[in-house]
Amino acid sequence: MTFAATILTLYPEMFPGPLELSLAGRALGEGKWVCDPVQIRDFATDKHRSVDDTPAGGGAGMVMRADVLARAVDHAMDRQPGVPVLAMTPRGRPLTQARVRDLAAGPGAIILCGRFEGIDERLFEARPIEPVSIGDYILSGGEMAALVLLDACIRLLPGVMGAASSGDEESFESGLLEYPHYTRPAEWEGRTIPEVLRSGDHAKIEAWRTAMAETDTRLRRPDLWERHEGARVQSPSGAR
Ligand code: SAM
Repeated sequence: MTFAATILTLYPEMFPGPLELSLAGRALGEGKWVCDPVQIRDFATDKHRSVDDTPAGGGAGMVMRADVLARAVDHAMDRQPGVPVLAMTPRGRPLTQARVRDLAAGPGAIILCGRFEGIDERLFEARPIEPVSIGDYILSGGEMAALVLLDACIRLLPGVMGAASSGDEESFESGLLEYPHYTRPAEWEGRTIPEVLRSGDHAKIEAWRTAMAETDTRLRRPDLWERHEGARVQSPSGAR
């Protein structure tokens, strides 16, 4: 199955952009995913091809019009019926690895990229659109956020990472950050690789990695740690 991404944007030339390179680029060449950027302005009806207007209630900047965006979304939904429609917005639910896995297991996604101050809220009431945020900071447009979401999905498509790595040991898959990595040289600037990793004792290595994943998660991401511990208490046979 080919993962089909339709991207509704004012900057179609930004796609596939960096996703033409490396793992995602190879997968694109192999037809594992396809990318169809659609110019939102093509759905404007006035001679200036306007897609935005001043904010109701006053204030700075411009707001993307619901009527123009709805025509673009409807067009994409007609071409890809049943595919999830996502809008990139800092007001959305934070993107998680679990949601990425769900999306990657499906037929693709329609992704709406905002610009200016954002999107007329009535669009979210009138169409089945999932608002998605990639983090608590503000980008100048939704295109970079869409590229992030696509990259996260594409690497999980069957055959993209190869047999050696399914990605299921990585950060967030178990609810924890992943353990730290080391490689040669064995000594660098007076620092050595932890002895256990050179012991060849797989049980000890596994135990060390679990302990490191737990410590780093506790220190760097107390929010994840709390959730992980909560889940463990509720299901003592669960993750660990
Ligand atoms: N005024 C908006 C607010 O404070 O919530 C920010 C608008 S931002 C300048 C323009 C566009 O960038 C947004 O409509 C959205 O598409 C995209 N964007 C910015 N930050 C984002 C984030 N953290 N996650 C997803 N999309 C983001």
